[in-house]
Amino acid sequence: MKITAALARGAKQALAVTELELDEPRDDEVLVRVVASGICRTDIDVRDGYLPTPTPVVLGHEGSGVVVRVGRLVRQFAAGDHVVMSMGSCGVCPSCQVGMPAYCVQHVPLNFMGSRPDGSVCMHAHGEHVHSHFFSQSSHASFTLAHQSSLVKVADDVDLCWLGPLACGVMTGAGGVINTLKPEAGTSIVIFGAGTVGLSALMASKIVACSRRIVVDNKPERLARELGATDTILATADVDVAAEVRALTHGLGAHNAFESSGVESVIGTALTAIRERGTCVITGVLPQGSVVEFDAWQLLRGRTVRAGAVVKAIVVMPHPDASPT
Ligand SMILES: [Zn+2]
Ligand SMILES: [Zn+2]
Repeated sequence: MKITAALARGAKQALAVTELELDEPRDDEVLVRVVASGICRTDIDVRDGYLPTPTPVVLGHEGSGVVVRVGRLVRQFAAGDHVVMSMGSCGVCPSCQVGMPAYCVQHVPLNFMGSRPDGSVCMHAHGEHVHSHFFSQSSHASFTLAHQSSLVKVADDVDLCWLGPLACGVMTGAGGVINTLKPEAGTSIVIFGAGTVGLSALMASKIVACSRRIVVDNKPERLARELGATDTILATADVDVAAEVRALTHGLGAHNAFESSGVESVIGTALTAIRERGTCVITGVLPQGSVVEFDAWQLLRGRTVRAGAVVKAIVVMPHPDASPT
């Protein structure tokens, strides 16, 4: 069928909205009419060549839509279902088996290689292959084929336009706080970066009753307080952000930090802004090969740096192309 898609053609080139040809779903795939899809920083990093996905490719990994047709072996979804498309996972590796598909051992091949595991693609332009299956979905398109492992069924009385970012930005921010940091009520948190991920972390920190919620960004328009910040810091060149955080937390530093900017130097700042025995969780995607510098003394004083949002499985199904590991 003919579809309209945003094609990423190479480093730093604008996306081209163009007509493509979409294949029929394979046995384990679902044809989805895309209603909305976020643009995540990871899409931009791929477009700009910082990650290994080949081009030309249709990106998009925060899609929401309506199921049109399902493959022969798909049992959990049917035409008309409202779905959110998240990441692909194998369903059989040790991480998948304990409900942690974000740490699937097949994460890179299933999500970043721009094809199915067997190397095939489902999108074409004038007979030429276009890389697809980005995060098992390539949802920057009017219709797409998603692998069933990436889908989560959602209530059909909720506007799908709002739900796409649940698949990446919202669950990364909220998961990083609720599942990874697990802050105690009444503690302080400093959040670096006020994009989708950081603001989701902020809302989650309010839900779990962090009492002091400090947000840091270098753009003043992103420092509004509607979503629950108790304090904001504009990170300009002449501001010592860690000192500002300590000033707001009885001179000790925040109990925890959440880093979502994906900037190497900010991680060092975040570590300096937390107190002894505090934890800094990193979720921003750094370019491959990035080196982060910080004073090791910060760790010797009981601080922890760890990465990622521990996102529990909502849907886990074996991927027929993957073997147990
Ligand atoms: Zn993302
Ligand atoms: Zn797996």
